[in-house]
This record gives sequence, structure tokens and C-alpha cells, in this order.
Amino acid sequence: MEIALESLTKSYDTVAAVRGVTLTVHTGELLTLLGPSGCGKTTILRLIAGLERPDAGHVRFDGKIVDDLPPEERGVGLVFQNYALFPHLTVAQNIAYGLRIRRRRRPWWQRPLAKREPGGSRLPMTEGEPGASQLPVTGREPGVNRLPVAEQVRQLLELVGLPGYERRWPSELSAGQQQRVAIARALAPRPRALLLDEPLSALDARLRDRLRLEIRHLQQQLRLTMVYVTHDQTEALSMSDRVAVLRDGRVEQVGTPAQIYEQPKNRFVATFVGDANLIPVEATGLGSRLADVRQDQAHEGAVYVVRPERLRLVAVESSAAGGSTAAATGEGETSGISNPGVGAADAGVRVTPDRPLLRGQVLASEFLGSSTRLHVRWQDRELVVQLTASAPVAEGTYVWLTFDPWSSVRLPAG
Ligand code: ATP
Repeated sequence: MEIALESLTKSYDTVAAVRGVTLTVHTGELLTLLGPSGCGKTTILRLIAGLERPDAGHVRFDGKIVDDLPPEERGVGLVFQNYALFPHLTVAQNIAYGLRIRRRRRPWWQRPLAKREPGGSRLPMTEGEPGASQLPVTGREPGVNRLPVAEQVRQLLELVGLPGYERRWPSELSAGQQQRVAIARALAPRPRALLLDEPLSALDARLRDRLRLEIRHLQQQLRLTMVYVTHDQTEALSMSDRVAVLRDGRVEQVGTPAQIYEQPKNRFVATFVGDANLIPVEATGLGSRLADVRQDQAHEGAVYVVRPERLRLVAVESSAAGGSTAAATGEGETSGISNPGVGAADAGVRVTPDRPLLRGQVLASEFLGSSTRLHVRWQDRELVVQLTASAPVAEGTYVWLTFDPWSSVRLPAG
């Protein structure tokens, strides 16, 4: 089902929670609403579910305005952060609670698109992947109206990776298992779309990582339209088809995770989604030259958005005090630089006249296993550099950094 929001507006007393949001969630798409606390994510979800009425604007399902439709007739499922399972009902009873039997040729949640790996691991398989269309349909698929409730519950539990858990009580489940049951319960009435409000935020990091993969897999397997609310950028980037970044009740940018990360439209998106070094164009000494080429953007006050992994370490000075053996010419050509601390992945970075060369002092060096993050004081700001090389660089050391301005996003002043 396609969900379209048209100039959607909602206020609570004096608080303007949602201000003219226009957004389309395509059929079978997982769209994430990402933004800081209080930006209106939950309110948008509640407007879609029919739990709130818009002050202005419309919600359309497959083109039809549903503003007057009560929540129970909208056919959308909801999953919240706190599972909301009935403690006095077993897992099976919790799922059966939401089960409304409808006459359909085949229940959509039985349509297998994805291959089950032997041993029960659930690996994502999208429609585009080879072989997806030839996947076997297991057994004959009876109409759901002929399936006993117990069988539907069994299938739903299998779908969420909890086969055989029918008789457990919610108190006998881990947090992750409870959330899986909550998802099964939301899927039971075969909703046309599933809305999830921070469903993983109460779980520990490892479980979150695993469950977000599972939710994504489920969504792809069922080709389900899904609206997912989070303030966690990693979650948003890793599992979404598209992300809508919100601020103060407005959509700042909508795009694929790569677009949002690589081509942020403004400073808010650049800094909210991932770490961003904002490097003034003037300070690089390249402003005027590049301004000749990119006349569409104001020159003064403009910044480059340089992600930590795009900042390259050119050289490490041998003396922390700055009495260096390294040197760089005014043209940006490195010469006579000794770089004892530069790892293989970053060695050999050639600095050409069209690349800026920044000299800064290491404030902290974090070894993260697969990478090292340097915090570097440069002029009046702190830059974050992510190195694949793991050579430690001592605090206080002076380093030389560069980046490619031509492949960096340049944001105008303001
Ligand atoms: P969070 O990530 O903290 O859940 P959110 O992005 O989901 O935040 P909303 O819950 O939609 O934000 O709230 C948006 C704004 O509307 C906030 O300023 C909030 O305080 C306000 N708000 C939400 N619900 C109500 C309500 N029932 N009455 C009054 N104000 C409300």
C-alpha cells in the first residue's frame, strides 16, 4: 500500500508538532523517519495510524483520503518501543488476540520470497537477488480463512524466528523475544502497512543490530510497506530504502541512505546523520579557485562537508612539540616529509595544488579495532579523522591532513 502525506499539520496547544509534511511512502518500501527527540516522528506515525487527526492536510492510502477512517479500519499495524504484550496471556494468545480472519485468496504473510537457510538463519534476500523468483512455495497454501488460529499463530511465530514458543508467558521471554512477539501480533491481522515506533531502543546494542536485520528481512520477504521511526542514524542508514530527516516538524531531506549521507542538503542533515567535518572554504585556500567553477554557491562562509573517512592523513610530524621534520610547500606539495606513523593505507597520499593541506594537533586517538579515529585540533575547531591503518598517533603530535574538495559536498553560507 502507498501512503501519501499531503501538507500534514498537527499542533498540540501551542506546540506545532508537524508542520506541513509532504511525503510518499511507496508500496513495499521501508521508509524511516529520522530526527532528534521532539521533531514530530511519533506524531506523524499516529496521524498515519488514525490515532490523531490532522489540523490541516491529508493522509492518503493508495490515493484515497483516510482522514475520517477510524484506526481499526485503516488496516495498519503498530509496533511500539515497549512491546505492550498482555502479561496475563500466553504468546499464542497474545498473537491470536490481534488475529482477524479475512477471506483472501492467500494471506500475504505466507507468500515466501526468501530462502530459509538450513539451521534457521534468516538471511536477507531481496526480489532482485538471483533465484528469488524461483523460490519454492512450501506446500499448498490454503486460504487463510480455512487455517485454524493455532496454525496461523504457528506460522507467524516461525516467521519471527520463535517456533514453538506458543505456551510461553511474556515474562518468560527476553526483551528481544518479546519484541518479536509484538511484531508477530501486529502482523497477525495482515496489515496493509506496518508502523514501528523506535521498536529497538529498549534493547542492548548487539540485539538491536540483529533485530534490525531481521525486521528488514521480514519487510522484504513480505514486500510490506513499512514506516520506521528512530533517532538512531545507524539504524536508519542500515535498514531503509529511503530516509526522511526531520527537524522541528518539517522534512529537511528525503533520500536513499547513501544520498542522505553523501549529499546532505544542509548543515543540519550533514551533522545529524553521521560525523561531519565542516571545513570553511576560505580556510582551505582553494575558495576562489573553486568558486570560479561552482558559482552557484556563495563563497564567503561556505563550508565543505568532509566525512571522517574522507579526511586523509598525509604525514605525521616526528616531534610532538612541532619542531618538525615534516614540511609542506605553500603550493600544497609535500616535500621532505617523514611520516613514521602513517600506516600503509594512508601512505602515498599525494597532495596536489588543488587539494588543501591542513596542519593540526592530535587531541585524542581512539583505537577501534578495524579503524583508528583521530580527534585533531585544527584552527578553532576539532576534526575527526577515521583511518583504516591502526598505527597509533600520540596525543599532541602534529599531523597533516588533506581531502578531495572536488568530491566533497560544499554547502553555502548560513
Ligand atoms: P521522541 O523521539 O522524543 O519520541 P518525536 O520526534 O517522536 O520525539 P513527537 O512525540 O511527535 O516527537 O512530539 C513532537 C512535539 O509535540 C514535541 O514537542 C512534543 O512535546 C509534542 N507533543 C507530542 N504529543 C503531545 C501531546 N499529546 N500533547 C502535547 N504535546 C505533545
